[in-house]
Amino acid sequence: MSQKQTVLVTGGAGYIGSHACKVLAAAGYIPITVDNLSTGWKEAVKFGPFEHADLLDRARLDKIFTKHAPVAVMHFAAFSQVGESMKDPGLYWRNNVIGSLTLIEACAAAGCQKFVFSSTCATYGEQDGVALDENSLQAPINAYGASKRAIEDILENFEASHRLNHVIFRYFNVAGADPDGEVGEFHQPETHLVPLVLDAIEGKRDALTIYGTDYDTPDGTCIRDYVHVMDLVDAHVLGLKWLIDGKGSAAFNLGTGTGFSVREVIDNSGVITNRQVPIVEGPRRPGDCTALVSGSDKAQKELGWLPKRSTMEAMISDAWRWHQNGHYDQ
Ligand code: UDP
Repeated sequence: MSQKQTVLVTGGAGYIGSHACKVLAAAGYIPITVDNLSTGWKEAVKFGPFEHADLLDRARLDKIFTKHAPVAVMHFAAFSQVGESMKDPGLYWRNNVIGSLTLIEACAAAGCQKFVFSSTCATYGEQDGVALDENSLQAPINAYGASKRAIEDILENFEASHRLNHVIFRYFNVAGADPDGEVGEFHQPETHLVPLVLDAIEGKRDALTIYGTDYDTPDGTCIRDYVHVMDLVDAHVLGLKWLIDGKGSAAFNLGTGTGFSVREVIDNSGVITNRQVPIVEGPRRPGDCTALVSGSDKAQKELGWLPKRSTMEAMISDAWRWHQNGHYDQ
């Protein structure tokens, strides 16, 4: 029997990274979590070894590459809050951009030529309500999106200089949890819509504040395209296969093509949990786009990606089950 291949998973102790480790292990790889635990949880590292390391520490990264000789890197580790990025952009440029550059340099120096990168639809910015495909103009309006856009550029340069092949995934809004309940979404503090709605339902906070009701949308609230975290990480395994098959570098949107307004997410959550959602209407959050909806099925056509759980019903009920039973202490 051939030996299992290892994949370095930065941010493997976080929400999306921990789900990626689960599917990588199920697909026969050994996921090596590299995480500084600044926002992740040791307890979420369940599917392979853990390396407690910071991406800004190049010497440590070099040792990790030598020790594990990964076939590929999946890079999830990042700060990812739009609002925070507008208040403290330096945090985003240092942690996301310099951290990623350090990782990419270590990867290239180690001769690892496969890199899967978590990017975001926030790289597109405000685009007049059009559905976004992979060739849409990338004009981010917040520091988070700008930091991810910069990393995409770095990857393109390293492909030319070091043949570092990359698959870039531009995520739309990720929601839901592992239906087996082994891992789930748990941020401290929480800033994302679905878990905050569930907190409000459970009385863990007084109410969900809707950030802006005067957007140019049918109900005045922002529209986003929600994708189930299990579908999202399935795409990453397909992206890895794409790189292993030598298909070169590519960028794919990961969204369903269907937009839901903030009010629609709240209403669906109330119906699916059969509970009241206390809400208050607040001002817009700086950096938020009116609407972000994926307008392409490139990932489905070219990677063979088949989203299976990205319905509101599955996303909210999986998140709700996790929310009631699962959390991390460390
Ligand atoms: N949102 C909201 N109240 C909250 C958190 C989020 O109205 O307490 C809105 C936010 O303005 C955006 C949408 O919900 O329009 C999704 O925000 P989230 O932070 O979950 O993800 P993002 O789109 O920033 O990646």
